[in-house]
Amino acid sequence: MARRKRARPFAWFTTGRVVAVLLCVALAIAGRAWLAENPQHNPWAPLDLRDPPGWATGTKLGGLRGDVAACHAVLERSGIAFTALPPTGEAACARPDRLTSAALPLAPAAPEMTCPVAVGLVLWLEHGVQPLAMEAFDSRIARIEHLGTYNCRRMYNAPDAPWSEHATGNAIDIAAFVLEDGRRISVLEDWPDEGEKARFLRDARDAACPAFGAVLSPDYNAAHADHLHLDHGRNRAIGTCR
Ligand SMILES: [Zn+2]
Repeated sequence: MARRKRARPFAWFTTGRVVAVLLCVALAIAGRAWLAENPQHNPWAPLDLRDPPGWATGTKLGGLRGDVAACHAVLERSGIAFTALPPTGEAACARPDRLTSAALPLAPAAPEMTCPVAVGLVLWLEHGVQPLAMEAFDSRIARIEHLGTYNCRRMYNAPDAPWSEHATGNAIDIAAFVLEDGRRISVLEDWPDEGEKARFLRDARDAACPAFGAVLSPDYNAAHADHLHLDHGRNRAIGTCR
């Protein structure tokens, strides 16, 4: 008669399995600690503009489109003062999301824009433009000259073109940067050169990509020879950064 094999109560606990489980637990603890120190990579951490852009930033920015309350909460959490404006406009130029912020060093000052554009500008300025200016010119940016945000028009003013992101104030055109020491860096005048100013403009363009849905520069086409177009639209050129 065959002897029945006796079940060993702790057979599962082989050395290899125990080591594997302990490794997994250690990795999970280390990963959690790392995400706590790097919230820009943590998809569950609320977006704070004082953190640099990270792996999770694009997804969080996308989630702000159309969610005005959540977007306002990001600005408040990040210490950026702003004034919300009442909805206005109609049809393609309806603007349910409007604000101005004197905290942004723009000239002309405090243009109206959507909240995601303001969020993108803060991210770009703090983690892109200002560090790049310090590196290239040893001076911070005092103001950014722009050509406008809201303009109820179609793209390139063409009658059959899709509506521009400017039609809802969801875009801004950047023409020049003025340093605290007075030097001016102009997209029109300095982009074609090969010097420090031209390098700064290209680096500033690239630094805008994680903070916006689309970034169009003189490299994109001749219509952008004198400005960088930054927008948070979803209906065209999403992901374009050129
Ligand atoms: Zn534009």
